[in-house]
Amino acid sequence: MNKMIFAIFWPPLLLALVSLLVTIIFGWLIPVFLQDIAFLEQMLDLSRLTSKPVAAGILFLSIVWIFYQMHELWQWQKGKRPTCHKCGGLVKEKQGKSGSYYQCYGCKSKRDVANQPQ
Ligand SMILES: [Zn+2]
Repeated sequence: MNKMIFAIFWPPLLLALVSLLVTIIFGWLIPVFLQDIAFLEQMLDLSRLTSKPVAAGILFLSIVWIFYQMHELWQWQKGKRPTCHKCGGLVKEKQGKSGSYYQCYGCKSKRDVANQPQ
């Protein structure tokens, strides 16, 4: 269960971390370390100005993603989502070479969508 929770939430949390890195790198690191180069001045202003809205946008997407994952988890707990044939965990649908399949968030086992019991 804990492994499944981690697998569900690490991608959106990583995206939130990217938002923080954008703020640090483009809003602070690049402008501070390149401020002495005169011909880059306008580009550094642009970097400073755009870093906050870009970071806010990325953070917003990660929050939406977290809420979507929470909704999927909630639907799974109510029995309204397909489950893993091995451990009963939440699965996600993926596209493979031979069609779509379900992969478990917990144990990573795979199963064709067509073979999923209802
Ligand atoms: Zn499983």
